Amino acid sequence: MSLIRKTAAELGSMIAAGEVSAVEVAEAHLDRMAEVEPKVKAFLHVDREVTLEQARAVDARLRAGEQLGPLAGVPIAHKDIFTTRDMPTTAASKILEGWRPPYDATVTARLREAGLVILGKTNLDEFAMGSSTENSAYHATCNPWDLTKIPGGSSGGSSAAVAAYEAPLSTGTDTGGSIRQPASVTGIVGMKPTYGGSSRYGLIAFASSLDTPGPFARNVLDAALLHEAFSGYDPMDSTSIDAPVPSVVEAAKTPDVAGMRIGVVKEFAGEGYQAGVLARYHEAVQLLESLGAKVVEVSCPSFTTALPAYYLIAPSECSSNLARFDAMRYGLRVGDDGTRSAEEVMALTRAAGFGPEVKRRIMLGTYALSSGYYDAYYGQAQKVRTVIAREFEAAYQQVDVLVSPTTPTTAFAIGERADDPMAMYLADLCTIPSNLAGNAAISVPVGLADEDGLPVGLQIMAPVLGDDRCYRVGAAVEQALESRWGGSLLSKAPEL
Ligand code: GLN
Repeated sequence: MSLIRKTAAELGSMIAAGEVSAVEVAEAHLDRMAEVEPKVKAFLHVDREVTLEQARAVDARLRAGEQLGPLAGVPIAHKDIFTTRDMPTTAASKILEGWRPPYDATVTARLREAGLVILGKTNLDEFAMGSSTENSAYHATCNPWDLTKIPGGSSGGSSAAVAAYEAPLSTGTDTGGSIRQPASVTGIVGMKPTYGGSSRYGLIAFASSLDTPGPFARNVLDAALLHEAFSGYDPMDSTSIDAPVPSVVEAAKTPDVAGMRIGVVKEFAGEGYQAGVLARYHEAVQLLESLGAKVVEVSCPSFTTALPAYYLIAPSECSSNLARFDAMRYGLRVGDDGTRSAEEVMALTRAAGFGPEVKRRIMLGTYALSSGYYDAYYGQAQKVRTVIAREFEAAYQQVDVLVSPTTPTTAFAIGERADDPMAMYLADLCTIPSNLAGNAAISVPVGLADEDGLPVGLQIMAPVLGDDRCYRVGAAVEQALESRWGGSLLSKAPEL
């Protein structure tokens, strides 16, 4: 089998055993990128020499006998919202065009320590605001299953790169669903760790109380290996959890749900959901039951109010976070010709540098936080957030995990929802509650919808620091379905 089809775990063992070098593995992936990038357009920045230099350094560390862990030498595509000192970082915004960060994000630094080789920076919706990657200020990314469809968002470059075999692994960030929804619509695995379980230091902030870095991979074990490689306490992030990382790799190697209690969220999977999504979802629930899990229906009535609460909280935090793009400190500066005041330059720069969705969010957030409206909007949304967290807590008294479809539909056409923000926001209907509560949640592929032959994902949710449960249940579903299919779901994708 060619190197690009191997799993990250396999590549890591081959490199450790000296059967292949990190340079050879990186070259195979760079060649694949050169071949398919004109169609997929997953990356914003690629520099072959910088990547090969990293690979040579890993080979040298391994030759010197350094113990680097199971992913040493394995290539990875890195979302362009994490700072990287050897590559530009734009968050897919014109306002950061050409910015070279002076430091590495904690996630970036940990990838390097573990010997992962960064292939390039992947495309996203500008500042991670969106569900389709069409809000990138640079270009759209295409879904490898059907190039006329979106790869999900905001981490759509990362999901597309993994689904197109350009990289075995990639990073994402999930504020309202930006890892799980892209994973679902491209037929791969994507995990949102517990909030605070992975560091936000050097992650360009969208909504700080929600932003969570997490892994993408083509299988559950690879996702767990990457999760373990970059997660854990970071003193540089004030909301980082000072507790051991749940043993996710061990859980991914224990595909056993016998005796587990699985709650089906009653509020998710009814009207407005695509028939093919519901069909695969119900089959997945039956499968869990046949594997020995006890399935019960659970009602969480406030989950239906999560979406409106999120669209007050996230824009409020964004309007504050994005104030730092003031034309003085980073990237773009417009109209600074010596005749204008700092305020004028700032206004011109922000008008030219931010795209329409980012401006919409800044205005929504500024309004929700303004005096006289604060209690009615932001304050009310925070109360809803508390109620949702309590409903989760009550549910987890009864069950070990909750399940739902990851997203109500399969990948939609590029352009289809571009002018309809409400339709776009609905993609995250099922994913947002776990962000508001800070819980863990994963998406794993469960088949193709009959109508369009596109991937469907199952969302498995677990309480704070219950990340291992997501992997355990995900691995059980994966094992059972792959033996039925005779391989991974992705092996059914058309050749690019
Ligand atoms: N689609 C959601 C939004 O646009 C979530 C984005 C995310 O998780 N970064 O806000």
